Amino acid sequence: MSAATYVVFRYDDLAADAPSVRETDKQRQAVWDAERAMDELFASRGFPYVVGIIPNATAPFYIDTAKVSMVTQALNAGRLQVALHGFTHTNHASANARASEFNRDFSQQLADINAGLSLLRESVHLDRITTFIPPFNDWNESTARALVSAGFQILSADRYRHSSTVDSLTVVPFTAQLWDLETLVNNRSLPTNSVVVVILHPPQIADIQSYDGRFFGLPRLKSLLAKIGTMQDIHVVTFDQLVKENSELSAARYAAAARLWQWRTLWEKLLPESYRPGAKNVFLYESEAAYSKLNLSWLAITSTVILCIIALSTFVTRIILTKRSVIFIRIVFVAAAFAVLSAALLVWDLNHRGFNVNGVRLFPLCAAIGFFLASLSRLFGSAFDGRPSGEKSQ
Ligand SMILES: [Zn+2]
Repeated sequence: MSAATYVVFRYDDLAADAPSVRETDKQRQAVWDAERAMDELFASRGFPYVVGIIPNATAPFYIDTAKVSMVTQALNAGRLQVALHGFTHTNHASANARASEFNRDFSQQLADINAGLSLLRESVHLDRITTFIPPFNDWNESTARALVSAGFQILSADRYRHSSTVDSLTVVPFTAQLWDLETLVNNRSLPTNSVVVVILHPPQIADIQSYDGRFFGLPRLKSLLAKIGTMQDIHVVTFDQLVKENSELSAARYAAAARLWQWRTLWEKLLPESYRPGAKNVFLYESEAAYSKLNLSWLAITSTVILCIIALSTFVTRIILTKRSVIFIRIVFVAAAFAVLSAALLVWDLNHRGFNVNGVRLFPLCAAIGFFLASLSRLFGSAFDGRPSGEKSQ
């Protein structure tokens, strides 16, 4: 393994326009202009990139001969990797759930993946397609199984999920947006052996109104690429090249990263970002050793907080409660906690999509455990503290 930092540029959502769509739809024309310009930009720098092609967005990809020709030329020049980006990019999730095309059962997912794969092969005449990028970066255990059975080797999504089957794929999660990479490059904070997977979408390169918001623009991308060009220790690679060059993309590394993200999600909104372990290198896919250290910190923080809440609430309830009031107050406490929590969670859930409710549940749950322990010791007296029951009452 060579000592370097790896950057993968992943352009999602390359999709065919049906004939003459671009003549009437200014936004689709603007996207296509930007895609061509971006391709030329990467070519002029000699940097490879990855395109996630939607094989059947509004039309099968092969219909768009202009886009097919751009992809084919870049492939022939060895400066592009083609990845499968879903099948139709349809959102099958219900209204309030996280958007997902690959959240359905195994047979439906496998059918979509195989259909997409053969459309893509037909379009760009490519036998070997190694990499799958699920739309909305969402997948489940069935996706992993379907990918293995369809012969994929690499999965690039986000860092929130893990499954046993995914261990037999190489997972290289996306970590950053263009502006994040820009910050990393400007601060020169790119540790050796870390990987940055940057995702780009049409609204970042073409100034159009779209779901994704933030426009970055090609002139800014051009100067970012120029800056990277001057940094010897940064290797711009495709996923295939990365897997060949870097032997440390183990299943254990991804499992540790996913564990870190579960901790971070659990504590989201409960601990300010700068106090959360892992905050410093949030835009990097770090080494397994780095993730293991961070996970230990999270374990220490979480167990300390849980023990403190239990101890505190045990102490407080033991002072307040008399033996007779214990059962009554216990019922009231549990009912009130549920009422307050349900109301709070509902509001949080609606206002803060993606907010993890388990973290909030942790606090009253620990307090309830403390209360429960205290009331048990009141009810059964000396068994817990060696003192006669009700000593402190009245
Ligand atoms: Zn997409």
